[in-house]
Amino acid sequence: MIIDFSKLSTILIGSKLDVKIVNEDNYNDELIIGRASNSLVCGGNIGVLDDKYNFIEIKNGLLRVGAKTSNRALYNFTKKNNIAGFEFLSKLPGSIGGSIKMNAGMKSYEISNNLVSINSKNKNKFKFGYRYLDINEPVFYAEFEIKEGFNVKLVEDFKNMRKNQPNLPSLGSAFKNPEGNYAGALIEKVGLKGIKFGGVGFSEIHANFLVNYGNGSCEDVINAITEAKKRVFKEFGIELQEEIKIIL
Ligand SMILES: Cc1cc2nc3c(=O)[nH]c(=O)nc-3n(C[C@H](O)[C@H](O)[C@H](O)COP(=O)(O)OP(=O)(O)OC[C@H]3O[C@@H](n4cnc5c(N)ncnc54)[C@H](O)[C@@H]3O)c2cc1C
Repeated sequence: MIIDFSKLSTILIGSKLDVKIVNEDNYNDELIIGRASNSLVCGGNIGVLDDKYNFIEIKNGLLRVGAKTSNRALYNFTKKNNIAGFEFLSKLPGSIGGSIKMNAGMKSYEISNNLVSINSKNKNKFKFGYRYLDINEPVFYAEFEIKEGFNVKLVEDFKNMRKNQPNLPSLGSAFKNPEGNYAGALIEKVGLKGIKFGGVGFSEIHANFLVNYGNGSCEDVINAITEAKKRVFKEFGIELQEEIKIIL
């Protein structure tokens, strides 16, 4: 199947690629992409999950979710069924598979918190960190604990936290925050806030958001990322680490 990642990805940049529709039986080392809301897909051996992994069900007292399910759909389901712990998904683009692989979240709320198993394997078999999960197989489905009490107030708090985020197309935070520091502050200090690289640039609203001003390319993103890393290392000795995934 042909996917034009410049249309799928939230940054509206990417290549047109022939991708494989992947299930548990035909998987053969493809890199699985979900909604590309954290990924710049410029090339590679790409797979997307079969539609059968788009489901939400309650089974044996657990919430069982296919990895192709959108974050939005799970958010709506948990809200409707008064389930706690998924409030941070309210404005989080992406799929459950991508969110698990990224251990996506806000502040102390992360998708791994309520997780019980991935592909029927206990969560304890995997190592999670800040926007990180050590797993060498695709996430096909996952199970989560069911705790009662969807928290509307939390949704409001998360909404407020996003007030300083730009509306232009992006992949969210470009870099992880280094320990004890903020990537956005460092980018600003090295003079890159609001600076453009071709069609993309570090947003004047939030410097850690690399935004597409309309005609950005993969090369523009790579140039911007490379320059930010170079400057921050030169000035502060800090190695910025991409949060976004660049797939060439
Ligand atoms: C405006 C905006 C705001 C954002 N805010 C946040 C935020 O607050 N917190 C946060 O954590 N993130 C945030 N993000 C980033 C993004 O939304 C999350 O990382 C999201 O969970 C990615 O899901 P996806 O399906 O789009 O993943 P993709 O971009 O498709 O993939 C991300 C990574 O996961 C891998 N992957 C995808 N699906 C699977 C699978 N089924 N099995 C194994 N690996 C897989 C990919 O290979 C890639 O390495 C934001 C993004 C945007 C655009």
